[in-house]
Amino acid sequence: MNMGRLIDPKETIQILKKYDFVFSKRYGQNFLIDEHVLGKILSAADITKEDAVLEIGPGIGTMTQALADAAGSVTAVEIDEKLLPILSDTLSGFGNVQVVHADILETDVRQLSLEHAGGKPFKVVANLPYYITTPIIMGLLEKDLPVTSITVMVQKEVAQRMQEKPGSKDYGALSLAVQYYAEPYLAANVPRNCFMPRPDVDSAVIRLTKRSEPPVRVQDPSLMFRLIRASFSVRRKTLMNGLRNAGDLGFSGEALEDAVRSLGKGLTVRGETLSLREFAALSDALSAMR
Ligand code: SAM
Repeated sequence: MNMGRLIDPKETIQILKKYDFVFSKRYGQNFLIDEHVLGKILSAADITKEDAVLEIGPGIGTMTQALADAAGSVTAVEIDEKLLPILSDTLSGFGNVQVVHADILETDVRQLSLEHAGGKPFKVVANLPYYITTPIIMGLLEKDLPVTSITVMVQKEVAQRMQEKPGSKDYGALSLAVQYYAEPYLAANVPRNCFMPRPDVDSAVIRLTKRSEPPVRVQDPSLMFRLIRASFSVRRKTLMNGLRNAGDLGFSGEALEDAVRSLGKGLTVRGETLSLREFAALSDALSAMR
């Protein structure tokens, strides 16, 4: 079929009409209709013909078409079966795209790379469904998967949180987790009128480049992340408060006090002022008391 690119809103409207498509709020469907933003995503993702791309949620295939032009191969995982006939139409001219009907949260990305990309690590690119942004990103970062970078459109506030430093308002467990596994780079702010339908929030494109080594050494990363979660579960209270309230950490109040004191910032220090390095030191102090 000789059709124009979907990034042209007229083409998007035409294809939606052709298939009588009804947007599903449940799946966070806001399709991109801005060519300038598409260009920003592609340049942030830094895709070449050498690359295998994993796209999460291709929608009607707007970004997929551009990714297929730029990449060696594109594997696109889409949950909504109503989009499958549309995708086989809009992507019919692209021999290097494979659409997989699945929920990305239930998908084995290592297997996907073996089956669809000859075991090559993926560059992940996506305009993410906002209702599951954090589980998708944390799943890709935590599980030691064949993924080298993640370039994604997310809610603006979430992008900000990912790159915040200690002491700022939006610094939290997500900032620490993302920065432990990756180097964040904010590539673009995106206003809400770049999507159809228009979402209620503004967006941003962020690139997370996976680190080959974490920036801090810690004996027990899972303990460190439990401490981080505990300390941010009670914002604007002291770190000690958060650790005591967590309950399931398995350390006495005395051990927790000793560990917090060892940071040299007093017992009234707040969790949101601690850097990744300090959480690692806290975690190692507790590991040493086991
Ligand atoms: N990439 C398209 C674009 O930019 O126009 C669509 C982006 S839209 C924000 C999010 C897409 O993710 C939708 O196509 C939606 O159906 C799909 N999606 C939602 N939840 C998903 C899941 N758990 N696994 C895979 N795809 C999902």
